[in-house]
Formats: sequence, structure tokens, C-alpha cells
Amino acid sequence: MSPSDASAPIPPVKLPAYKLTSRLTHPQDSVIPLGGYSIGGPEFIVMAGPCSVEADPQMLGTAWDVKVAGAHIIRGGAFKPRSSPYSFQGLAEEGLKMLAKARELTGLSIVTEVMDSSEVELVEAYADILQVGARNAQNFSLLKRLGQVNKPVLLKRGLMNTVEEFLCSAEYILAGGNPQVILCERGIRTFETSTRNTLDLSSILAIKERSHLPVIVDPSHASGKANYVAPLSKAALAVGADGLMIEVHCDPAKALCDGEESMTPDQFKDLMENLRDLAPYFGRQISTAASVTARTADGL
Ligand code: PEP
Ligand code: MN
Repeated sequence: MSPSDASAPIPPVKLPAYKLTSRLTHPQDSVIPLGGYSIGGPEFIVMAGPCSVEADPQMLGTAWDVKVAGAHIIRGGAFKPRSSPYSFQGLAEEGLKMLAKARELTGLSIVTEVMDSSEVELVEAYADILQVGARNAQNFSLLKRLGQVNKPVLLKRGLMNTVEEFLCSAEYILAGGNPQVILCERGIRTFETSTRNTLDLSSILAIKERSHLPVIVDPSHASGKANYVAPLSKAALAVGADGLMIEVHCDPAKALCDGEESMTPDQFKDLMENLRDLAPYFGRQISTAASVTARTADGL
């Protein structure tokens, strides 16, 4: 190298539109601690529960079953983004109260969707993780509002969003001051009709390359078929996702929403056992043991 080369200015690195979300500004993986676990570390995190909170026995029974099977976090929607205004819209605050009871019963954290900026304060008062659904992935005023929240946000990929757009949506939350964002690949809309959406497993690789944020997979909404969920969950583990979000219902045939894609508690228990065995082959672990074998709570 000549002396003139050594003194040449280093060209500035061109940052993408999602600066804070990019690995260029934060090379290490982000790890989000929650309820004794870390999302984005070696533990493969599983969030499970019904699509919608429907009633105390349904929510508490399912929460208990998924805890016994080894789930780390309980899910359940109290505000439901339904395609038709005539479909069940969720129990709103009553549902949030049932989720809080499920947390008390199981000791696990809860994740639930917030659909509108005006409801952030209410949902934040109950939830441990606030979920942004696929249909709101580019609701920029909601994303900005969630930048002011001091709790993790689970951001789902929009049905029509590229990985670049998805990361830009995350950027709104980070730029607003909240670095605790978990991304979720839940399938995108393509010409294919044999599944509800097309699960884009390659997006996990593209996201991991470009961003430091943890990313999980939702094979339930991606496929729309309960019997596809186990194989797709194993594929998500193999491709390097940090965890899963899975719909489980105590009686899928009677579910008020998404029964066809919901696993039974027994199917979910089998899947967790399989994942626990497989995780070490992919540098992961699932430390939650199905050590709780009896229902101790009254009124289930
Ligand atoms: C959900 O997880 O309850 C949900 C509505 O999913 P999505 O936003 O991915 O459709
Ligand atoms: Mn659902």
C-alpha cells in the first residue's frame, strides 16, 4: 500500500432506510429478556394459545395445557381484526382480564394484539408483549405510538410486505424510542391457494442477514391448516428462527375464530416434545420441561 492509499478517506457506509434495525448499526443479535426467558438467545421460544379469548374456561384451560406442554408465553386475541364486520370481534377489555388470569394461573407472560393507537394504553396495562397484526403492519401512526411503549412489541409481517418494508415498519418503533421489537413471519399472499398464505421461510435468512432483531414464525396463520403446523414448525427451527407462535384451542371444532388451523392440546404437546429433541441439532434448546403434570387450579 502506498502512503497516499493509507491517507485516503474511508468511504462512508451507506445505511439502509431501516438504520436502527440494520445489522450495520448493531452487529450483535438483539436479545429481549422477558419472564425469565430471553427472546433471540439460545432458547427457542414458543408462544401458544387460542386465536381469540372466548371465555374463562376456554382461555384458562388452554393456557394451562400449553404451559404443561412447555410453551414459554401465552397468546390470545381480545381485539380481533376480522375480514367481516359480522364475525366475532373479540371481548376487548373483558378478554384482557381473562388473559391476566391466565398469566396468574400459569406464571407465564402474555402476548395480545393492539389494533388501534387509541387502545395502546389499555392493552399496555395488561399485556407483557403487544402484538401488531399483519393487517396493521404499515399502520404508521400505531407503530409510532408503540415507539413510546416500554414493553416488547411483536410485529407481524404484512400480507403484501417485502422484507425491506417489514424492516422499515420495525424502524418506526425503534426510531420512536422502543428497541424491544420481535419480528414475526406469518406468511404472505401469493397466487397459491392450497394454503391460507405462503410461508416465506427464506425471509428468516434475509432478515437475519440484514437485521439484529429476533424473528419468530407463525405457521398457523401461514398455512391455515392444523396438520401443516408441526412440519412447518420444525422447518422454522431448522432455518434459524428464534421461536414460534402457534394457535392451540381446547376444542378447535368449537373455536369462534381459526379453528381449522388450531392444534389440540395433545397435538401441541407432541410437537413440543419433538422440538425439544430436535433443538440441539440446530444450536438451540427448549428448557421448559413438561414437569407440571396435574391441574392444580380450581375451576378449570
Ligand atoms: C393473530 O395472530 O391473531 C392474527 C390475527 O394474525 P395475523 O395478524 O398474522 O393474521
Ligand atoms: Mn387466528
